[in-house]
Amino acid sequence: MTVVDEIKARVDIVDLVSETVNLRRSGKNYTGFCPFHANTKTPAFAVFPDSGTWRCFGECNEGGDIFKFVMKKEGWDFPEALQHLAQRAGVELKPQTPERKAEEERADKLRELLEESVNYFRHQLLSTPQGAQALTYVEKRGVTRATIETFGLGYAPESWDAALNHFTARGFNAQDMLDAGLVTERRGGDGYYDRFRNRLMFAIRDSSGRMAGFGARVLNPEDNPKYLNSPQTMLFDKSKLLYGMDRARKAIRTQDQVVIVEGYMDVIVPHQAGFQNLVSPMGTALTEHHLRQLKRYTHRMVLALDPDAAGQKGTLRGLETARKTLDRSAEIDASHLFDPRGLVRSEGRLEADLRVCTLPDELDPDEIVLRDPQEWENLIAGAEPVVIHVMNTLAEGRDLDDPKVKSEIADQVVPLIRDVPNALERDTYRQRLARLLRVDEQTLLPNRAPTKRPRRPRKGQPATASAQMPVAAVDQGSLARDMERHALQLILNMPESIYSLDRVLQKVELSRFTPQDFEDARYQNLAGLIQEALEADTMDPTDYIEANLPESLTDLLAELKERIAAQGSIISEKLLEELILTIMRLRKLRVQEGLQQLQYLQLDQQEQTGEQPLTYQDLVAQYTRTLARLNRAIGQPLQLD
Ligand SMILES: [Zn+2]
Repeated sequence: MTVVDEIKARVDIVDLVSETVNLRRSGKNYTGFCPFHANTKTPAFAVFPDSGTWRCFGECNEGGDIFKFVMKKEGWDFPEALQHLAQRAGVELKPQTPERKAEEERADKLRELLEESVNYFRHQLLSTPQGAQALTYVEKRGVTRATIETFGLGYAPESWDAALNHFTARGFNAQDMLDAGLVTERRGGDGYYDRFRNRLMFAIRDSSGRMAGFGARVLNPEDNPKYLNSPQTMLFDKSKLLYGMDRARKAIRTQDQVVIVEGYMDVIVPHQAGFQNLVSPMGTALTEHHLRQLKRYTHRMVLALDPDAAGQKGTLRGLETARKTLDRSAEIDASHLFDPRGLVRSEGRLEADLRVCTLPDELDPDEIVLRDPQEWENLIAGAEPVVIHVMNTLAEGRDLDDPKVKSEIADQVVPLIRDVPNALERDTYRQRLARLLRVDEQTLLPNRAPTKRPRRPRKGQPATASAQMPVAAVDQGSLARDMERHALQLILNMPESIYSLDRVLQKVELSRFTPQDFEDARYQNLAGLIQEALEADTMDPTDYIEANLPESLTDLLAELKERIAAQGSIISEKLLEELILTIMRLRKLRVQEGLQQLQYLQLDQQEQTGEQPLTYQDLVAQYTRTLARLNRAIGQPLQLD
């Protein structure tokens, strides 16, 4: 039980509200005059002891839990209300964790150092004789001065201690530089030396644009490895970072497509030419974490692969080994990017639309874009599903009449097909493969009964949300609480879904989503923060939330994240549907509850005065209309666009 739940369990809402409002029993609930808006005629304020919530049906049209009540009454923020109610309940609050604070400060310090490094390396590139060779290389690749600035390109001089000395003079110590990945410790622990020497430097930022580390390319072909990244640091984790993400985010969202390429220049040059929806992993296969991150902006993903790497039959065969050796090498090797089996599985899990296109003439994306932008667009438009791509690549130039070749290809493609979650898609691929190899489709069917997959809700069964809900729960209060948590979890998982949610709600004449859809004060807070994160738009919403998260919400965020992680396999269109339905059902529950309460209020009033105030009749009519809209919307298929 969290502190908040414990306080809620200990503080009686009727007692608490009674201190301010004269409450009278009305059915199983209590009613009174709302303390938050001026009124003396018609009590329109209700307290629901079962759910521990209150609501004003009048002018405020607002409600919440005990925290919300205290916040509104005293004008406090959540931590203040928490402090007050904890004391009242005799619950001890945990102090802020100093570890977390220290960690954040450390990260900020390292980011500051890395920001300064960007300037330092850029200065070396643009304004020193040693940087001239690097500058020539960059210019030959078609990169403009403006792009050098935007993308933070630079040059690390040929020296063991140039950066070390420079940053020491600027007040950073060796430990800072080590933790930021700029220097390496000498063997035997006897001092440090510059990690990057005589290399072209690429600043790597997280999706919010904060510095995370560097990628560095050799200038002397004799040097090894060709590409060197920052080591794993508290800021740099290449299994999570995607190069260019901070600059591509908006374009990915507006074009509803991301193109995944294989190098820094492949991101930079097309970006300069107006193709801004490109990102690249850094010397690592695409991880599911990468795909999930992209999935927040689009489900349409195209891998633009270098033909001499990914397409080669040898590469396909050696995939497993390639992946195993990968961790030992920091070098970008395109063959590592393409792991068909892993991709097909992730694609299924994430319900992404993952396609592959092969670049022609051994050209890199930047070369194609410079040669002919239209050609680039055509290439992306012609991308094929992963399975088809693998099939065609394996068959290319092979003697398909040779039974051994047939079986070799089938052996590689059939397991891939088996991993495709969609039955129709699976059948189509199998037919394509049968035609390609000119064999009977039956021979390509798995001879074992397939292992059972966890059953998914069938089509035409709109109750995806209720499948996750404790259906048997009779207690409306706890049902509403579960629905709130579920809805918030979904919104947190994909903040952008609020836009789609709003569109659907407005189509059926319902009001937009607001934090007021929740009654739990913490949920309202977090929902408000999520909205704020979306509006800010300068940062990745998730990062914004983390950066602005009040201490009082850390537990809640952690809990929701755990739930999201545990839920793993659900995909966004389903999630969106589920979110919309959950919000609608939650509202329906509230409206029904409200109508019921209004009836009690009407009865009370009639008994006392012999007449029914118009306010109630208006409210009842209004609630009834909303209820009808909700019922219609829940009953019909959702109009997602
Ligand atoms: Zn009110």
